[in-house]
Amino acid sequence: MANSMATLAVAPAVSNGAFVMRSAAAAESSGAVASPSGGVVVSSLRARTGSLRSGFLGCKVDIGAVNNVAVPSWGKKKVGNAGLARAASEDYYSILGVSKNADKSDIKSAYRKLARQYHPDVNKEPGAEQKFKDISNAYEVLSDDEKRSLYDRFGEAGLKGAGAGPGDFNNPFDLFETFFGSMGGMGGNSRAQRNRPTQGDDERYDLLLDFKEAVFGTDKDIEVTRLESCNTCNGSGAKPGTTPTTCNTCGGQGQVVSTAQTPLGDFRQVSTCPACGGTGENVSPCNTCSGDGRVRKTKRISLKVPAGVDSGSRLRVRSEGNAGRRGGPPGDLYVFINVRSDPELKRDGNNILISAKVSYIDAILGTTVKVPTVDGTVDLKIPAGTQPGTTLVMAKRGVPLLGKNNLRGDQLVRVQVEIPKRISGEERKLIEELASLSKPKTVGSRSVD
Ligand SMILES: [Zn+2]
Ligand SMILES: [Zn+2]
Repeated sequence: MANSMATLAVAPAVSNGAFVMRSAAAAESSGAVASPSGGVVVSSLRARTGSLRSGFLGCKVDIGAVNNVAVPSWGKKKVGNAGLARAASEDYYSILGVSKNADKSDIKSAYRKLARQYHPDVNKEPGAEQKFKDISNAYEVLSDDEKRSLYDRFGEAGLKGAGAGPGDFNNPFDLFETFFGSMGGMGGNSRAQRNRPTQGDDERYDLLLDFKEAVFGTDKDIEVTRLESCNTCNGSGAKPGTTPTTCNTCGGQGQVVSTAQTPLGDFRQVSTCPACGGTGENVSPCNTCSGDGRVRKTKRISLKVPAGVDSGSRLRVRSEGNAGRRGGPPGDLYVFINVRSDPELKRDGNNILISAKVSYIDAILGTTVKVPTVDGTVDLKIPAGTQPGTTLVMAKRGVPLLGKNNLRGDQLVRVQVEIPKRISGEERKLIEELASLSKPKTVGSRSVD
């Protein structure tokens, strides 16, 4: 509980990136759009435009403008870049043994041939692994038109700006797998892949709030069901008291090699070890989690919903998503906010819109009416001579700004002047008297003017 509460701390955390607010609402916050990078990401975008006097039409109600903020990518992380520096002296073309004007299919088949030959699971000669990595790096550059053109013109230095400088290559084993994984050949599920820690998936939770809860913020206890690390095996997936033993069939490699003699020579075929499924180990699976290392559990999380959220806002609770595998970090929990509408008050970003009916007499003479607001019923003065359709501003009676709760929007009250359809005889007499009193002569004489 303390953990999630802390992650969701609001106002002072803006500077350290734990809370990111995005709002293009009132003038105060214009330009203050932060990039989503922190612990809690709340998004809601709305526009308030036009003069207040222009009424609701001019004050474009942009209710559909709740904007989805970009969620930081939680994609697969690159691993194992550290050891990938390649011998700088050799030229990529000569590494692959192709000419400078080799076309894509030449390069592809050269890579295919050499990568199989030097894959460290197959080739135990010293230097084979480095050679394998060099081949992979060379292929990565030469198979990409843009990188290849940069490399042709500027050499390796040209690749630095393209995000592919030395040391910035992808995992050569990943590349290899994309090539050979589907062929049923070697490397379909290398041991490194199977046992590698992986980050847990993010989890989504949909939260429905009452109108005022969204306006003023609230504390909510939510129950989230997600994968947690298995307590029985501490996430290892192995039955307690047992230790994984090296697979006898493949000697821990996860793969088996068979040699077939063909008229073209000996063919080495590598396939996933059938005994261990490619892990290289024999494990007695944990009874609780069936070997996954994770179990589905429900957890109660105390959520502090900041004031000013709206439908479409998204709160991110760090590390409360699904547990990772094999000790990988957990994913995040994303809470998607939905807000119930209020029968009277309509929200337009940080402003509240409402209509108030007044009689024509009150509009002429002025009056005070009771108006519902998010703070309860409040007196609103209707000035004498108020025109139909006028929008009156009740300053600071709107919604607190997300992350800046000392600032609030306004309540905009549109005045509807009611003209009676029927009047009594006495009223009629008085109005006619009024009419004769104020009627300009030009109207009565119908003179064309
Ligand atoms: Zn377990
Ligand atoms: Zn095996």
